[in-house]
Amino acid sequence: MRCEMNGHLLERIKKLKAERNAVILAHNYQPGEIQDLADFTGDSLGLSIKAAQTDAEVIVFCGVQFMAETAAILSPEKIVLLPDKNAGCPLADMVTAEQLRQLKQKHPDALVVCYVNSSAEVKAESDYCCTSANAVEVVESLPIDKKIIFVPDQHLGQFVIEKTGRNLVLWPGYCASHVVITEEDIKRVKAKYPDAIVMAHPECTEPVKQLSDQILSTGQMLRYVEKSTAKRFIVATETGMIYALKKQNPEAEFIAASDRAICPNMKMISLEKIVWSLEDMQYKVAIADEIRIKAKKALDRMVEVLPAK
Ligand code: SF4
Repeated sequence: MRCEMNGHLLERIKKLKAERNAVILAHNYQPGEIQDLADFTGDSLGLSIKAAQTDAEVIVFCGVQFMAETAAILSPEKIVLLPDKNAGCPLADMVTAEQLRQLKQKHPDALVVCYVNSSAEVKAESDYCCTSANAVEVVESLPIDKKIIFVPDQHLGQFVIEKTGRNLVLWPGYCASHVVITEEDIKRVKAKYPDAIVMAHPECTEPVKQLSDQILSTGQMLRYVEKSTAKRFIVATETGMIYALKKQNPEAEFIAASDRAICPNMKMISLEKIVWSLEDMQYKVAIADEIRIKAKKALDRMVEVLPAK
């Protein structure tokens, strides 16, 4: 019955997508059925860049608020829709633009690097944006004598400190869906699968990362597994990632480090909500030019300092 229903919803989405000239993006943490229907899957910045390069007039972002905002920053001429207006990111919400302004006042000589998991207003207050894949490179590119404020994820920040030896001023933000993975989880799963490679996202806690073989962003996990000869992997990130990994590598086995690593916000998106989103053109995410232009500068500066690949 559910299968029949899904078939009907998928048909409806296909029709509406053509009528609206829309592109559908799904983050790697989205439910499998949504990853399957999307035009593009991946991480938030990669998806926003891909959508900007299309001639679609509408972007449906199956993800959370800051991701739709990032798409809107890069595609001001397109309409960006988030199928559930309550799909926020608790990590991004942990620092507001006002809090960041106050921190900047305390460290007036510091440069600010913000993780892409932040609001458009916070990006607008920042000098550089970064992703979990390039945070180390962005910080390394900054003058050695410069103080650096890093917001909002303390665990990604800690990882950057360890890799660069720089002394960052960290904001105490965290992702609840990543810090729920414990050291004990890793030890227990490793004991059961001693041959498996442990891949952890930098948003995990430090003890979890210390027990891991590889510390990788979601995009890096996909690339790493594709090149690896190993057949079994323990995945310490949001469990939706296992669907993306399995789809790309059907022969390999992926084990969640913790079944509790689920982001409830990511799972708010459903096929029904995508239909309603395209029918009613809701919920529009637009960024006022004043904020958008400043936020885009932080994203542009990130791209400028990265080595050409
Ligand atoms: Fe935010 Fe964490 Fe959910 Fe990603 S997994 S959207 S960082 S709360």
